[in-house]
This record gives sequence, C-alpha cells and structure tokens, in this order.
Amino acid sequence: MKTRVDPGLCTGDEVCTQVCPEIFEMRGDKAIAKIEEVPHDLKQCAKDAADSCPSQAIIIEE
Ligand code: SF4
Repeated sequence: MKTRVDPGLCTGDEVCTQVCPEIFEMRGDKAIAKIEEVPHDLKQCAKDAADSCPSQAIIIEE
C-alpha cells in the first residue's frame, strides 16, 4: 500500500499529523507522507488519517 498527499488539496490543518504522525508530517504549510510505501503495521494508521482528512487530500493506493 502506498500513500501520498495531494498538495493542491491539502489545507495544512495538521489533522493527519496528529492521527498518524508515524507517516505524515508538516513540510511548511502542507503535509507530506514521509513514508510512501506503508508498512503493514501502519496501514490502519494511514487509512485513519485519510478518513480524517477534511479535504480528502490523502491518496491511498492499494
Ligand atoms: S489532514 Fe489533509 S488537509 Fe489536513 S494537513 Fe493532512 S493532508 Fe492536509
């Protein structure tokens, strides 16, 4: 599973970095996925962050 943030949609509200700091971090005023290839034990964390993102800016690719 891979994940990334669409910088065009991200509003920088930092929700994902609070829900799943293992994967998402702020880079300036946008979030990025610091790990793009999501390890098995962090899949739920990444999905929870995507579900929590109010802008649907987090892309998950199975
Ligand atoms: S939750 Fe979504 S909009 Fe907010 S910082 Fe993360 S990717 Fe950006």
